[in-house]
Amino acid sequence: MAIESGSYDPATGIWSWCRPPAQAPRRALFLDRDGVLVEETGYLCRAADTVMIDGAARVVAAANRSGIAVVVVTNQAGIGRGYYDWAGFLEVETRIAARLAEEGAALDGLFACPFHPDGIGGFRHPGHPARKPRPGMLLEAAARLNLQLGRSWIAGDHGTDLSAGAAAGLRGGIHVLTGHGRAHREQVGDLRTSSFQVVPADSIAGVLPLLPALFP
Ligand SMILES: [Mg+2]
Repeated sequence: MAIESGSYDPATGIWSWCRPPAQAPRRALFLDRDGVLVEETGYLCRAADTVMIDGAARVVAAANRSGIAVVVVTNQAGIGRGYYDWAGFLEVETRIAARLAEEGAALDGLFACPFHPDGIGGFRHPGHPARKPRPGMLLEAAARLNLQLGRSWIAGDHGTDLSAGAAAGLRGGIHVLTGHGRAHREQVGDLRTSSFQVVPADSIAGVLPLLPALFP
């Protein structure tokens, strides 16, 4: 199922692509994209600029083998601001899918929100329910892919990634130092509650040894 078959739904404000859901409910590993799965370049929109972060494909492949759904949830303010369009987004996503496939890894779902407070052409919104830190993309993914949010995790470099996870009722968040992670490390500790765990990692590669503990 090619990612090119994904589409934007004006009713939800979400661009989405996902595989058919499994019959039984599944746990999920949600991933922010820029700064977690691929190097943060700022408004990434070209395949040539798309660089996988070391270890990312191995983590996705391990989750695939364990029956854990892997779902990318990405704010795409660059579209809302008019810097690039869905074709540029797809160019990047197609490259990521190819890189993952080289290591036997595949995503189960991909969700993107173009809204931004400074958006143009109808994509302006002060706090769109699908834009992280709000949980709209995660909730939509859960409905579409039959996911068990309370047994799921999100990996992110921004505090807003983990905040979206907490708002969606995930078990916790893994905070990485890649991307903008270093600037957010101190604040993400504040997101820790009795019902939401915060686990530090150097990068997505650090998630690999944690998988058995995160998904018992
Ligand atoms: Mg990021």
